Amino acid sequence: MSYDHEWRKFSLEYRELNPFCVFCLDEGIYNGKHIHVDHITPLEVDPSKKYDLTNLRSVCRSHHGQLTRNFLNTGKNELMEKDLKKI
Ligand SMILES: [Zn+2]
Repeated sequence: MSYDHEWRKFSLEYRELNPFCVFCLDEGIYNGKHIHVDHITPLEVDPSKKYDLTNLRSVCRSHHGQLTRNFLNTGKNELMEKDLKKI
């Protein structure tokens, strides 16, 4: 997956508008460090949703790592119960 110039600019603007990790927010934590813009339906699955605002969410580095692991292991780009309890 290549992160081109257009995407970098887009994701920067997205993060300005959505500065906090959505999963940390669920826990009541305003975590705005090392935020990635995550594709809920990954680009590998549906590349047409790259700029679909309903397919995007801000996630911190550790939640992003868990999402990526789960996607590789299970094909689901979601957190599991155990992940939610761990953080
Ligand atoms: Zn987080």
